Amino acid sequence: MAAPMSGKFFSTDPTEIKDIVLLLTQNGLCPRCVLRFLGEGDTAVFRVSIEELTQKVISLADGQEGIFSSLPCPACLGILQVYLEGEFLNRIVETVKSSDHQFKTFICSLTTPVCSLLREHSFLLLLNEKFKSLYECKVIEDIASVKDVWKWRSGPILAAALNAPFEFKSKFDIILNFTYDKSDKECTFLSYHSPALFRKRKNQQKNYGDTYTRTNVAKVLSDITDGYFKRNYNIPKSNENSICKCNEIKCIHDAVFVAGRYNKYSRTLSQTPWILDGGRKSQSSVEEEICEPLKQKFRFTEQRFSSSGREDVDVRMLGKGRPFVVEMDDPHRVEFSAEDILEIQKEINKSADIKVRDLQIVDKKDVDKLKEGEIEKMKTYSALCWSKESLSEEQLHKLQEVKDLIIYQKTPIRVLHRRPLATRERIVYSMSAKKIDDLHFTLSLSTQAGTYIKEFVHGDFGRTTPNLGTLTGVECDILELDVQSVELDWPPSLEDS
Ligand SMILES: [Zn+2]
Repeated sequence: MAAPMSGKFFSTDPTEIKDIVLLLTQNGLCPRCVLRFLGEGDTAVFRVSIEELTQKVISLADGQEGIFSSLPCPACLGILQVYLEGEFLNRIVETVKSSDHQFKTFICSLTTPVCSLLREHSFLLLLNEKFKSLYECKVIEDIASVKDVWKWRSGPILAAALNAPFEFKSKFDIILNFTYDKSDKECTFLSYHSPALFRKRKNQQKNYGDTYTRTNVAKVLSDITDGYFKRNYNIPKSNENSICKCNEIKCIHDAVFVAGRYNKYSRTLSQTPWILDGGRKSQSSVEEEICEPLKQKFRFTEQRFSSSGREDVDVRMLGKGRPFVVEMDDPHRVEFSAEDILEIQKEINKSADIKVRDLQIVDKKDVDKLKEGEIEKMKTYSALCWSKESLSEEQLHKLQEVKDLIIYQKTPIRVLHRRPLATRERIVYSMSAKKIDDLHFTLSLSTQAGTYIKEFVHGDFGRTTPNLGTLTGVECDILELDVQSVELDWPPSLEDS
C-alpha cells in the first residue's frame, strides 16, 4: 500500500490514484507529466531528480516496475525529459557564458509548440472520461504547466551553475524556443471548425505570420464541444519522433536607458546620421558622437536616440543643452557606478562639436517626461537676422513689447516632404532685438516648443503669420540660429547636487 507522496492530488483514494497512474503511463506519459495530471502543484516535489521522482510514481502504482515508456512523452513532447537533464542544462549554461552578458539575476522564458495545448486538452478529456467525478470540473489551469515544472526543476540547477538567483522579474532572460515540426498539422482540424480565425495574416514585411497561435488555438478550444474535439483529434501516442527541438537558446538583457543634455557647437553636424541615397551626407552626427562611447562600454546591439525636440543641422544648441535619452537594446554590460558614467561623459566630451552633461542611467518609466516636454515647454533662441532696410529704434522697440503673441504656421515648405500639411498655432512669449549694423540685428526670443523660428523670421512666403516682416513692415531673413535653452527639468541636473 503506497502512501500518497503529498496531500495535493485531486484524489485522496490510493486505489484511484493507482488507476490514474496506470492510465497515464499506458498512454506513455513521463513521471513529471503523470504527477502534473494527478494534481500535484508543489514546486518542491518536482525539484528532485528524475530517478527519485520515478520511484515515487512507481510506489503510487503499488510498486509496479516497467510502467514507464522510454519513448518521448506525448504530453510534454520531451520537454520534461531530455530537456530537463544535465546535457541540455549544460548547453544552456555554455550558451549563457559565451553570450558574455553581465547579470545579477536571470529568468528563463520557454516557448512551447502550439499543439501542446491540444495535447494537454486531450489528456484532460481522457481523464474526465474515465474518472468523471474527479476531473469534470478541472480545467487546464488546474494542472501545473510544462513551463512551470521545467522552471521549478531547472531554476535551482541553473542558478547554482550561473551563480545567480532565478528571479521572476529579472531583466536578463534566457529564451528557449521549443518547436515541433508536426505542430501545425495537428492543429489543422481547428481551421475547418473556425476558418475565419485562422485566415493567414499578412504582416508588414509581407510574410505570413503563424497561422496557429496560442491565442487563436486556445479560443477555439474553449468554443468547441468535447465530442467535436474527440472525433477530430486522436489521443497522441508516443513515438520516437514526437519530440521537440530546441534549436534556439538566446540570451537577452532588457534595454537600459541613459539620459543627459547635449550642446552642439557646429553648424554642419546633424542630429541623427544623415544618409541620402545610400551615401553619407555628413561625417558624423550628435547621435553617433554620443552613442559610440556608450556602445563601447554598454556593448549594446541597437540604439534609439530621442531628444526633447531637435535643431536643424545649421543650428547650434547652446545654454544648458537639450535633454536626450538613448535606449540601448540588449546591453552586455549593465553595472556602472556614477564615476563610471562620468568617465563615459568625459569620453564623449572629447568631441570638438558636442558636449554632454548630466549623463545618467534612468528608469524606463521616466523616459516619457522627455516627450511630454516636447510640446509643452518653452524654448529660447537667439538669431542673427538681416533686414532689407535699416530698422529704426522704434521698430525694434515694438518687438520688445510683444507678449504671448499667437502665430499661425503652415507646415514649412522645407519640411513638407516629411510632415503633413497643417496649420499649427504657436505662442511667441517674448522678443528683444539688438542692432549690430544697419542691416543686421540679433533677435532673442522665447517661444512655445515646436515653433518654426526660421519661418517666423522670414515668413515662409506668407505661410507663417504674423511674422517678423509683418510686425516690422520690413522684409527680414535669418542668417544664423542658436537654441539658448530648452526648459525641461529632466533628466535631473547632476551639477546642483
Ligand atoms: Zn511529459
